[in-house]
Amino acid sequence: IKAAVMDSMNDEQESVIEPTEKSGGRSAFDVLQEERKALPIYQYREELLQAVNDHQVLVIVGETGSGKTTQIPQYLHEAGFTKVGKIGCTQPRRVAAMSVAARVSQEMGVKVGHEVGYAIRFEDCTSKKTVLKYMTDGMLLRELLGEPALASYSVLMVDEAHERTLSTDILFGLVKDIARFRPDLKLLISSATLDAEKFSDYFDFAPIFKIPGRRYPVDIHFTKAPEADYLDAAVVTALQIHLTQPPGDGDILIFLTGQEEIETVEEILKHRLQGFGAKIAELIICPIYANLRTELQAKIFKPTPQGARKCVLATNIAETSLTIDGIKYVIDPGFCKMKSYNPRTGMESLLVAPISKASADQRAGRSGRTGPGKCFRLYTAHIYYNDLEDNTVPEIKRSNLSNVVLTLKSLGIHNLLNFDFMDPPSTEALLKALELLYALGALNKHGELTKVGRRMAEFPLDPMLSKMIVASEKYKCSEEIISIAAMLSVGNSIFYRPNNKKVLADNARMYFHVGNSGDHIALLNVYNSWKETDYSTQWCHENFIQVRSMRRARDIRDQLKRLLERVEIALTSNLNDLEAIKKAITSGFFPNSAVMQKNGLYRTVKLPQTVYIHPSSGLLQAPPSWVIYHELVLTSKEYMRQVTELKPEWLVEIAPHYFQLKDVAYPDSKKAAV
Ligand code: ADP
Ligand code: MG
Repeated sequence: IKAAVMDSMNDEQESVIEPTEKSGGRSAFDVLQEERKALPIYQYREELLQAVNDHQVLVIVGETGSGKTTQIPQYLHEAGFTKVGKIGCTQPRRVAAMSVAARVSQEMGVKVGHEVGYAIRFEDCTSKKTVLKYMTDGMLLRELLGEPALASYSVLMVDEAHERTLSTDILFGLVKDIARFRPDLKLLISSATLDAEKFSDYFDFAPIFKIPGRRYPVDIHFTKAPEADYLDAAVVTALQIHLTQPPGDGDILIFLTGQEEIETVEEILKHRLQGFGAKIAELIICPIYANLRTELQAKIFKPTPQGARKCVLATNIAETSLTIDGIKYVIDPGFCKMKSYNPRTGMESLLVAPISKASADQRAGRSGRTGPGKCFRLYTAHIYYNDLEDNTVPEIKRSNLSNVVLTLKSLGIHNLLNFDFMDPPSTEALLKALELLYALGALNKHGELTKVGRRMAEFPLDPMLSKMIVASEKYKCSEEIISIAAMLSVGNSIFYRPNNKKVLADNARMYFHVGNSGDHIALLNVYNSWKETDYSTQWCHENFIQVRSMRRARDIRDQLKRLLERVEIALTSNLNDLEAIKKAITSGFFPNSAVMQKNGLYRTVKLPQTVYIHPSSGLLQAPPSWVIYHELVLTSKEYMRQVTELKPEWLVEIAPHYFQLKDVAYPDSKKAAV
């Protein structure tokens, strides 16, 4: 088997790994092989393979960086498991799936997308040759819709199980069941924390395989008093380390909550460093977050040049998903972005929240991988011991479940209350999801999937977006609706606003708001205008639009177009009938409608909740009485993002089972608006 593997590697090797001369005449490929052998897991290779042979389900626990994600699939491949089927490995984060696939393909001397590939939403970088497939847990859930028994897999590794993401938790229940009727399928559940008993118990007392890690002592420092501004405190701490410690001594890792904070800290750091001029050693700033361009993601793994120091600014992704070698100092402000869900209102929001003790310990541990480390916690010891929760609450307990419920229904799982959840979600949240799917027409009164629901489930989108697409058939505007859906799926990175050109950028943005027609139509205008320029980069620059986001929107749109074909919805354009387009949007988003009250504030139609138009909306200057919005974001207030005008009579026309005439009466007046 090994010889065969080596042969196939040699075909590709030259095109990928340049046989550059490294120290002692070894090629880069040889160096990688030596690095592989130096990982803690290498010593347990044979034992691990034996355990996989002996048991169908195995729980694997090992310190972050010990080599679980990159090595185990390779070991199994080398041992011949890929002769009968693929090896799949799920990751909660898409950056991790991409980055690990890149690393493993280098180690195997092949191109990404050939023998080693990855699949994330809207991006499938695999081929017929692919035998090691890294993917997000959400992607595997979708794959199950087409391949319910995972027939093309010989091994499935549910990695980073300790993260307990919503998709991973749902996968647990599904793969446990699949393993029962597919005794030939090997199931590996791998986790970074020692909380493995719980996984073992859940999987019918599967044996636990422990990979002892190397861990050096970490010196932990707390602040004496709480920090008023943790970003500033993080910058000051990083600079102090850099200025007082010799540069060759080790790199710095700062945990931040998201792209915005990372960009802010990067800016402040660069500015302060300029003040020092050339007097000090170079500090190389490396950001890493989910939307970072792929080329830049690779930068964090580049070895630090002599005489310089690296300062990695990372989100939670560096907590366990990615290991960056050479970190000696960790700066932990103690926060992360956390999803929270209120089943009463059905609102999901992303909030900056304190991390758990388990997270804080993981973060600290990142500094002690290659030698003794130091962790600077920007909070007090009192907060750590008294205020932080022991563990993060699993995502399933703080999420909107409509998407997973639709997936489970499509998989033929009807009785959700009986589903084998490791930690069951609240009944209230389950009912809320069923209620929404019923309102959208995806389920009938008996909770069974309808034809609409079946079509909706084909789209890898939230049910409200899928419904909007399915409804576009009726309003003959599928061309426009998939453009809008693609633009919405890209997120909030379409327009940019440079600090010194804010007015120009805002004017450019308003140019797409023809006749106060709303943010959805503006997004459509942007897409169509770009298309008319033949996808010009120059045009994007002139209009303060991110070309990268536009290209992504185009890719997503192409895929949605193919999915339309699958569900047999014709591509039709109805660009001159904006009302039809808005009605299609309303068909999916009617639960997100709001009306202006006498006091000038909006309240949501179904619930008495005050909401505001987001400052980035084109409707801010002339706010209409009735609006529909894409999402709510909670920052200083509950903001509606991507807002479009609505005629209240549409609500009763489109969703008569959801709205009654009294709902569409203007508040504070007895008269219905119809
Ligand atoms: P685990 O899954 O046990 O946390 P990994 O298999 O992810 O460990 O990591 C093993 C080693 O591979 C680490 O030293 C890490 O730095 C290295 N590694 C992982 N991904 C990359 C990458 N994209 N580029 C360079 N090195 C990487
Ligand atoms: Mg890993």
